Amino acid sequence: AKREGRARVRFFESEMDQELRDRRLLQHDLRQALEQNQLLVHFQPQARMDGEVVGFEALLRWNHPTRGFVAPDQFIPLAEENGLIIQIGEWVLREACREAVSWPRPLPVAVNLSPVQFQAGDLERSIHQILLETGLAPTRLEVEITEGVLIGDFTRALNLLRRLKALGIRIAMDDFGTGYSSLSYLQSFPFDKIKIDRSFISNLEASPQSAEIVRAVLSLARALNIPVVAEGVETEAQRAFLAGEACDEMQGYLIGRPEPIERYLDLIGITVER
Ligand code: C2E
Ligand code: CA
Ligand code: CA
Ligand code: CA
Repeated sequence: AKREGRARVRFFESEMDQELRDRRLLQHDLRQALEQNQLLVHFQPQARMDGEVVGFEALLRWNHPTRGFVAPDQFIPLAEENGLIIQIGEWVLREACREAVSWPRPLPVAVNLSPVQFQAGDLERSIHQILLETGLAPTRLEVEITEGVLIGDFTRALNLLRRLKALGIRIAMDDFGTGYSSLSYLQSFPFDKIKIDRSFISNLEASPQSAEIVRAVLSLARALNIPVVAEGVETEAQRAFLAGEACDEMQGYLIGRPEPIERYLDLIGITVER
């Protein structure tokens, strides 16, 4: 048994080495991704409960030369670790704003911000600069933050959020309900939107608890006068439940997946002759 244990330890060690090597490799490749145009932005529609599309969320994609598409959950933590997220985050913002300003329908665009972008660099200046450069009205930009932004230097983050809001940018609290302190953060900043995490929505049918939590979040948000977006709506049953509970908006595969904007030309007001 002892021998077996040792073998297992060795197995774990080599597996960990492998994982570490792989992370380093990916991190190295990520530095080139920006320069070599391997990054792209997909857009996912956000809709009212009747299906009317009212905006888009920009979601980053990495088309790796040999691995193909690498999921953001895999490479964003790496970019946060080595600080590359600052440059990548600015790139996403610029792309999203440049894209949105060209839409005939002036729909808002939402961009995810990493906590690292709040801690380091001059986020306010770069956002301001990008808005000027692209000509996008600040009121058409929404930034999505998770509670990770407010953990750490709380005062700094809060001041930054206030200044962004003063520019006319809307601030959405992402992944609501998954953190430890979502509620207390609602108390400290006037968020413009709450996005209920996908995990609660996907459990709606299976778990009465999830349904109650979603109801509670909706009633809390209503009391605070904050519109709610349900994330990850995939089925008509989920949509119907949320509509019945007076949820404001939804996002999810039921309406559309994150895709190159070309897939959604009609929604941004470009009619294509067939
Ligand atoms: P998120 O901000 O919560 O984004 C929503 C995620 O849910 C996206 O995953 C989206 O593709 C997925 N999703 C949307 N609707 C459905 C659905 O109906 N069913 C299912 N199963 N999934 C759905 P994605 O694009 O893989 O992004 C994962 C996370 O990576 C994002 O979660 C966000 O935290 C992060 N991320 C993506 N782009 C950026 C970015 O530009 N900057 C930063 N800092 N983070 C980003
Ligand atoms: Ca988001
Ligand atoms: Ca989310
Ligand atoms: Ca998420």
